[in-house]
Amino acid sequence: SIPAPHKIKEQLDQYVIGQEYAKKVISVAVYNHYKRVATGTMDEIEIEKSNILMIGPTGSGKTYLVKTLAKLLDVPLAIADATSLTEAGYIGDDIESVVSKLLAAAGNDVEKAEKGIIFIDEIDKIAKKKNTNSRDVSGESVQQGMLKLLEGAEVEVPVGANSKNAMVPLATVNTRNILFICGGAFDGLEKLIQKRTDNASMGFGSQLRTTLDKDETRQKLLKNVEPDDLVKFGLIPELIGRLPVVTVLDPLDEEALVRVLTEPKNSIVRQYKELLHLDNAELVFTDAALHAIAKKTVERKSGARGLRSVVEELLIPIMYDIPSDATITKVTIDADTVEGGQPHIEHGAMRPRYKSLTEQQ
Ligand code: ADP
Repeated sequence: SIPAPHKIKEQLDQYVIGQEYAKKVISVAVYNHYKRVATGTMDEIEIEKSNILMIGPTGSGKTYLVKTLAKLLDVPLAIADATSLTEAGYIGDDIESVVSKLLAAAGNDVEKAEKGIIFIDEIDKIAKKKNTNSRDVSGESVQQGMLKLLEGAEVEVPVGANSKNAMVPLATVNTRNILFICGGAFDGLEKLIQKRTDNASMGFGSQLRTTLDKDETRQKLLKNVEPDDLVKFGLIPELIGRLPVVTVLDPLDEEALVRVLTEPKNSIVRQYKELLHLDNAELVFTDAALHAIAKKTVERKSGARGLRSVVEELLIPIMYDIPSDATITKVTIDADTVEGGQPHIEHGAMRPRYKSLTEQQ
């Protein structure tokens, strides 16, 4: 019972705003992956894994996409930061520790873990360093170490702990059917693509530059990424070969951020409305306020990641006052409030005060 790609995408749409093409690519890759898992090795044709590489700026929804995916497929998920991984034998989490994390996420059920998803973030930060003579332990060797995991290997991992020692029982996890998704911002990759396309006499990059702004040009270039560009960036060819599905996520602009604020099932605006509702007060954001919040967030350059802190800063004084003033019934945030003005507060008959759990008992 593997959901069809359009069903997967439909569900992703309920949470993840925009990123239409990436959601399609991922839905198909995931569908194929689990088809491959379900059928085992098909007759003579062995279907290769569809591990995924996601290229997208910070806060564009890479992690969120993977988390949503794992939840809707009901498979365990482990998330690791590539920069925290080390080659076996060095201090830090060795690469196999991500499998151990996955096993923990699967409640130590090996069979479940073997069908899970591992997300390795900041993969671009372990690119091979150029022009260095010293041994590069952090980058290339970690990439090397990842190869066999991505391909499929039997890994002995400790159960219920993250270090191997004599006291901890070991379990063997086969990574053959684990879906690996790697993500990164790949700053500067567009320049390498531009160089290649410029050299190829098409002058693609320079053509773009005359008609589009900087961000648009960057996105257009990234969408033309080829394996060779990633090699130039510093990923080893073997690793790129094991990440056959490459997809590019868009930076979220003001319009998209307004949608992120309001549309998802558990959107930030809904969450704060609910928080105030629990105090029997109504919270209203005007359209202009939502745009002002989005604009402020764009300036911080942290994508949708920055939205929560902008809203939180705005609402702290309100959330502080409401529980102490039972006459507040409605709070309206408009653009002026976002710029530092006062919220519009309506008073009414006494609200029943929210009782904390301990008071209710
Ligand atoms: P990334 O991994 O690309 O740096 P995240 O996925 O961690 O970014 O995004 C941070 C938060 O911003 C998420 O937890 C989610 O709440 C929100 N977010 C980011 N992108 C989107 C999106 N496209 N749609 C809805 N929410 C998003």
